[in-house]
This record gives sequence, C-alpha cells and structure tokens, in this order.
Amino acid sequence: MAEQFEGDVRKLGFGLMRLPKKGLGLDIEQISRMVDLFLEAGFTYFDTAFIYPGSEPAIRKALVDRYPRDAFTLATKLNAFVAPTEKAAKKQLQTSLDRTGAGYFDYYLLHAVMEGNWKKYDRFRLWDFVGEEKTKGTIRRMGFSFHAGPELLERLLTEHPEVDFVQLQINYADWENPSVTARANYEVARRHRVPVVVMEPVKGGALADPPEAVKKLFRAYDPEASCASWAVRFAASLDGILTVLSGMSSLAQMEDNLSYMRDFRPLNEEERKIIGEAQRILGRSSAVPCTACHYCTGGCPRQIAIPEIFAAMNLQLANGQIEKAHEAYEEAAPEGRRASDCIGCGQCERACPQHLDVTGYLRKGAGMLENGDTGI
Ligand code: SF4
Ligand code: SF4
Repeated sequence: MAEQFEGDVRKLGFGLMRLPKKGLGLDIEQISRMVDLFLEAGFTYFDTAFIYPGSEPAIRKALVDRYPRDAFTLATKLNAFVAPTEKAAKKQLQTSLDRTGAGYFDYYLLHAVMEGNWKKYDRFRLWDFVGEEKTKGTIRRMGFSFHAGPELLERLLTEHPEVDFVQLQINYADWENPSVTARANYEVARRHRVPVVVMEPVKGGALADPPEAVKKLFRAYDPEASCASWAVRFAASLDGILTVLSGMSSLAQMEDNLSYMRDFRPLNEEERKIIGEAQRILGRSSAVPCTACHYCTGGCPRQIAIPEIFAAMNLQLANGQIEKAHEAYEEAAPEGRRASDCIGCGQCERACPQHLDVTGYLRKGAGMLENGDTGI
C-alpha cells in the first residue's frame, strides 16, 4: 500500500535544518538560490520541522511565496518532546501552516520518536490526530522520524499500519553502529513494506570530512568525487528509499549534491567494497559521533555549546589538528560555558537522538582542550 508513491519521488531531498546564516538570522537570498537550483534539477522534496529555528518562515520566503504549490512537496514535523500539553502539541500543526503558508503538508511526521518519548505521542493521541488531519486533507501522507532500536520500530509499525513512510538515520558509518542500528531498523521498515526517508546520510557533515585514511581510499578510486557524494550515494542505493535528505548549508553543497544526484548512479560492486573498507576504518575512529542536530542545547542550564565543543574535539580526534581544535574550542566555549562547567544534570543526554554519553564526552573534552590530555 505505502510503496505506491515511492517511485514518484527523486532520491535527493533538501533538509532544512542547517540552513545558511546571515548575521543573527538566515540567509534568505542564498537559500532562495539553493531552492532555484534544486527545483531546476528536477527535485521537489523539502523537509523542515516545527523546532528547526527559523526554518519554516525561511522556506516560506525562499520557496512557498515564489513557486506554485504543485511545483514542490513539503514535509514538516510535530514534536511532542517540547510540548507541555496535548493541546500545545496539536497546535504545532496550525503554527507550521501559518509559518510556511503552504496550505497543506505533503508529508507530516511525528518527530524524533525514541525510547524516552514514544509513550508521550500515545498519551497525547497524536497518531490519531495526524490520521484525522490526513482525512481532512491538511496532511497528504503521515510518517514519523525515529531514533531507537529495531524492537520499538517493529512495535510502532505493527501498531500503526496507517503510517505511509518512516524517516530513519542511515549512513555507512552507522550501518552497524549499536547505538543507531541503521541496518536493523532499515530491515524492519523493509519487512513492513514502508518506504524510508533517509536522514543524516552524511552524519551531520562528519562524512563530508572523514579521517584522512578514508579520504585517501575514496580519492584513489575517483579523485573528483567528494566524500559527501560517497555517503549520499550509499544511502540512495538502498532499495525502498523514498528520498535521501541532505541538510545543505551553502550553495556549494547544493551544487555538489546536484552534480552526482541529478543523474543518480547506484554504487557499483567495487564502490561497495570501498565503502566496506571505510566502515572498517571508521569502526576504529575515536571521534565523537555527534550529528550537530542541537537537540541537546536548548535545555542546558549552563548554555554549553555541546555540538561545537564536540566538533572542536573531532578536529583533534579524527584529523590530528591539535592547534585548530584548541582555536575552535576557545571560540565555542567562553568562560562560564566551558566543558568543565557542565553540572551533570543529564538533560542533554535525555534529548540526544544519538544516545551519546554527552557528559562523559564533555569530561574528555575538558581534559583534552583545557588540560592538554592527548585525547586517546
Ligand atoms: S549535563 Fe551538562 S551539558 Fe548536559 S544539559 Fe546538563 S549542564 Fe548542560
Ligand atoms: S550531542 Fe546529541 S543532541 Fe547534541 S548535537 Fe550532538 S547528536 Fe545532537
């Protein structure tokens, strides 16, 4: 049933979580140009969310107000985690409609369903709510994005056969990662014949700049192909994929993505072997596997810039760039908001869809970047 529309969508979607910034706001001019290139290349799928700061109003200006409604499809998401009451959760749909001016959503998702919050989606009767809105036509297709293991996914897809699609974190680095279980989740979705929207194919940008050993491997096969292209093509080569969301932050990233997704070519046998070798190398990496989603930062009582601190650590851990790591750390962690200022309240860990030991990594970061430990 659900797979009927899978073939209608091209394999690259424009993820709107990491849009380019200008001053304190978003760079509408650059986003508009990115939208133009994306549509000109024949792609149509845009993905935002109620909780992405500034994203819904920005896509109104860059897309909805500039193109006929049938020239694109728009996905957004309802997030129960940030809603204090059932009423507040349900109100998010109207707010998203008002912010985007889209009139209806082609795809509407329950957002970041995971172990710590899935019962709240039940308690607030949000599955029924979304189903009713679909009957009214406010929503064309309903789905959910998911950050837990295959047992919970199996349960949700069994309890909710009305779901049209599911959004999963899939990338070659997390394929067998026990805290992401990308392969196992993908297989559950396939068994239920539910199309998959892929998120984090480049792991929050980390696979655009992997450790040198992986870069060397990719360059040896194709010196022209970007590292991101390997990651996006890996996800897009899987069967049953509705589209692969790439969270693009600049015109250059859009151009790169379009260069290999315009005439998409699945990975061949030799390329798959190279990905296998990259997976083996990354399995030995000590980098912090943070995707820079920022879900952890809103509630931090010390306003610690967690993902930026992890990015600084990774300059040293993944690339050996010790000086650059210290510079990036000084910028990300001013006095009072150092990694060592963490009070261990655990809010960030409850919010983290990657289930990271945030406080443990911050301790390690404080050791490396405040006290000069090696990080090994
Ligand atoms: S555990 Fe530390 S980093 Fe996490 S929210 Fe609390 S103070 Fe912030
Ligand atoms: S620590 Fe977790 S929640 Fe915070 S940005 Fe990284 S992946 Fe996202």
